[in-house]
Amino acid sequence: MSTRAAPGKEIEQLLGAGTELHAPVPLSEQARLKNYAEEYRRSVEDPEGFWAGVAQELEWFQVWKEVFEWRYPTFEWFQGAKCNIVHNCLDRQLTAGRKNKVAYIWTTEDGTERQITYGQLLDFVSRTANGLRSLGVKQGDRVIIYMPLTLEGVVSMLACARIGAIHSVVYAGFSVQALRSRIADAQARVILTADVCYRRGARVGLRSIVQEAISGLETIDKVVVLRRAQPPLELGLHEIDFYELVRKQSTDCPPAVMDAEDPLYILYTSGTTGKPKGVVHVHGGYMVGVYYHMTRFWDIRDDDVFFCMSDIGWVVGHSYIAYGPLLAGATTLFREGAIDFPHPAIAWELVERYRASVIFTAPTAVRMFMRHGEDLPRRYDLRSIRLLTCAGEPLNPEAMVWAYRVLCGNGQWGFVADNWWQTETGGPCIGTLPVFAARPGKAGKLLPGVSAEIVDAQGNKLPPNKGGLLVLRRPFPHMFRTVYGDPERYAEDWSKVPNTYFTGDVAIRDEDGYFTVVGRADDVLNVAGHRIGTADVEGALISHPAVSEAAVIGRPDAIKGENIKAFVILRVGHTGSPELEARLKDHVRHVLGPIAVPAEISFPDKLPKTRSGKIMRRLLRALEMDTEIGDVSTLEE
Ligand code: AMP
Repeated sequence: MSTRAAPGKEIEQLLGAGTELHAPVPLSEQARLKNYAEEYRRSVEDPEGFWAGVAQELEWFQVWKEVFEWRYPTFEWFQGAKCNIVHNCLDRQLTAGRKNKVAYIWTTEDGTERQITYGQLLDFVSRTANGLRSLGVKQGDRVIIYMPLTLEGVVSMLACARIGAIHSVVYAGFSVQALRSRIADAQARVILTADVCYRRGARVGLRSIVQEAISGLETIDKVVVLRRAQPPLELGLHEIDFYELVRKQSTDCPPAVMDAEDPLYILYTSGTTGKPKGVVHVHGGYMVGVYYHMTRFWDIRDDDVFFCMSDIGWVVGHSYIAYGPLLAGATTLFREGAIDFPHPAIAWELVERYRASVIFTAPTAVRMFMRHGEDLPRRYDLRSIRLLTCAGEPLNPEAMVWAYRVLCGNGQWGFVADNWWQTETGGPCIGTLPVFAARPGKAGKLLPGVSAEIVDAQGNKLPPNKGGLLVLRRPFPHMFRTVYGDPERYAEDWSKVPNTYFTGDVAIRDEDGYFTVVGRADDVLNVAGHRIGTADVEGALISHPAVSEAAVIGRPDAIKGENIKAFVILRVGHTGSPELEARLKDHVRHVLGPIAVPAEISFPDKLPKTRSGKIMRRLLRALEMDTEIGDVSTLEE
């Protein structure tokens, strides 16, 4: 099909029932993973042999005694093995001849660019690791990284892992309470942060947020600050300048010998309670999983430039900015700031300039690009793109078809690959590969190593085309090991639906094995691809003195997928008004951060509740969207 055909008609054709989009022939012919059916069969018939085979492509200080042991719901992969993920990310790449290969290209909204080779990166990471050691950070200590998307942010993660410290990155868009609760839960002693981050041309202060977040928290005794702004910020008693700390260190820092099951990081995500969920990933299995996906799903080659639009604050940034690309020896492009600033075609300008070939983006971004029209991307040479991958939320058929048609030249040079996963799974579980067709509206098929099913609430498998709960039957190496400090909460994930791990999502599978992941089944929202617990936003609202009760729901949003609507009951003496609505939004921004701010707040007289006092968000959602109310038999009179 020609790219010049009338767009309206073409979209209609492409969106028609049964439509399939195909990859350019060379892409599927040259794919490392050519025989999907065979690879999948091998991975589920003999998971231990399959993953051990992948693990052998990496370097271990000591090989495992057992590949897998399952003590439901906990499990271990590569038992007895010794390794360090950073050794495989850096030292191994130098031995493989990549010392002078560019590891990262980092850019900013004002056009600053920095490139760093694998050799330079190893030196930088080693110095930073020695710097952390000089502060007394030891193996197993938790270190908070509250940094903007910078090279120093990535280096801080790798430096922690090199000495066996456990990093916990907190997205720099989160604010005081979100940061404080994560520091307290992790019991961290050291924080790495920056004075400011830059977004949409504005400077956003991080230091004041850190100061407020740690006030009264006794565990923190050192704050390392990356000073970026001029004139340089004056440092306080417990603050240390990032470069002053790092520059004076030696580049000699052998990687700590870690047990394969030793924790690598904690990444907090939102769950159904207001308490953040500290998802724990480990050195060994996680390394094997992200390496597998980087080389088979993203199919990274030495001449690729991998452009990842995520942030180190999310799991995508952990797996596919920090660790995965380095494990695969890739050159990765990443950028601080908004993807449509200073102009809406900046992403395409970068693709053209750096000949970016594999892209990781999000449906929200694609919908935003669509809104600006197809003339903008058409002004740039996008023929370097061979794979445009999307994750984080449902990729609606219109967005997938648009991306295929406009960004991938209608399949002449590129292919769109949706992929489903979550913080807990470390890497994709369902996805579309160039060796089979993409179906708009469907995330794809089960990826090798994944045994997922659609079941009812009792765990019974449902037939094709029947919607139900998406569960995983068996853990793969890169699956999370526990919830930090809360093994009961971890065990709950493996017991809500009998004998399975419940993902929290609702999905449907067609007769050919393609899954559509519809959305969350629990009280978790997905705003612009970011997981936000209703309980978090409600807790933030209730912490305002004017608020007595709050309930929040997600409403469909053309760009963000979902936006937040809040219903607030005020304390006596307060009346709802646009001014109060603005004040409450500011309050949520201050407590949680901009991503959690409700789009709208209304002030009803009461909230619908069950007889046991639980707020019926389902009913609020149905009333808001004018849809079927469903069963309300438990509603309070
Ligand atoms: P997070 O843990 O923040 O990465 O969020 C994971 C959640 O995002 C999943 O449980 C899904 O609800 C949603 N999600 C991620 N990827 C996709 C996708 N490709 N299609 C539909 N939903 C997705």
